[in-house]
Amino acid sequence: EEEAPSPVLAVEGLEVRYGRGRRGRSALRGVSLSIAPGETVGVIGETGSGKSTLARAVLGLVRVSAGSVRIGGEDVTGFGNRQWRGLRRRGVVQYVFQDPLRSLDPDLTVEDSLTEPLLIQGVPRKEAAERARAFLDRVHLPEELLGRLPGELSGGQRQRVAVARALVTEPSLVILDEPVSALDSANRVQVLEILKELRASGTSLVFISHDLGSIAGTADRIAVLYRGELVEVGAAR
Ligand code: ATP
Ligand code: MG
Repeated sequence: EEEAPSPVLAVEGLEVRYGRGRRGRSALRGVSLSIAPGETVGVIGETGSGKSTLARAVLGLVRVSAGSVRIGGEDVTGFGNRQWRGLRRRGVVQYVFQDPLRSLDPDLTVEDSLTEPLLIQGVPRKEAAERARAFLDRVHLPEELLGRLPGELSGGQRQRVAVARALVTEPSLVILDEPVSALDSANRVQVLEILKELRASGTSLVFISHDLGSIAGTADRIAVLYRGELVEVGAAR
């Protein structure tokens, strides 16, 4: 008898409230979703529907008032900072925030931003530097940008650095909140190609976007959020 592979991400009955007590407004209610190894799930929904809140809840960045989040079979709902660092060190989960400046350390150069996650995983320095450069080349960032800080880049360059940083270690799960919104169409196509290649190598992706066009060509399934509730999950193709 064959068992289905256990999900990389399993969200169950998730509820998130911002603010306290009776005035606390719920941003997510009863959200359940699970993602298989190598699967890409696109999340769409109008502005304010709770997409970024879902990303933050999965990454332990907002308090979850009900429900649970499991990553790689492990219940991470009550994890503290140290445990989250452990997950990242083991190469389990990476992320790109909606605001790429928040995904990047303002004091790390482009090159060091990509080398750091590899070093954290114990990749030898020389190999890490080579892999970082190769990945930057894949997202078409010219060598002259390698020494710059995030504050010295254009919005689109910054977004490509943030995406490259999240993907360079080939983690098992990547959460991407609007990863291509600041890119022109040529760069967008390139980044979407890289996402597809990663999926082929077994990485699971949560891909949040306003742009159904970017998601539809990339995702296996699409989840629709409406006013904090998951109203539909269906095959993309
Ligand atoms: P967008 O497409 O504009 O990025 P979104 O779907 O990502 O929107 P969220 O950022 O998750 O939406 O916001 C969901 C709801 O929670 C909105 O009503 C928003 O105003 C509210 N909200 C988000 N962050 C906070 C916060 N830090 N404090 C209070 N309310 C918040
Ligand atoms: Mg958002």
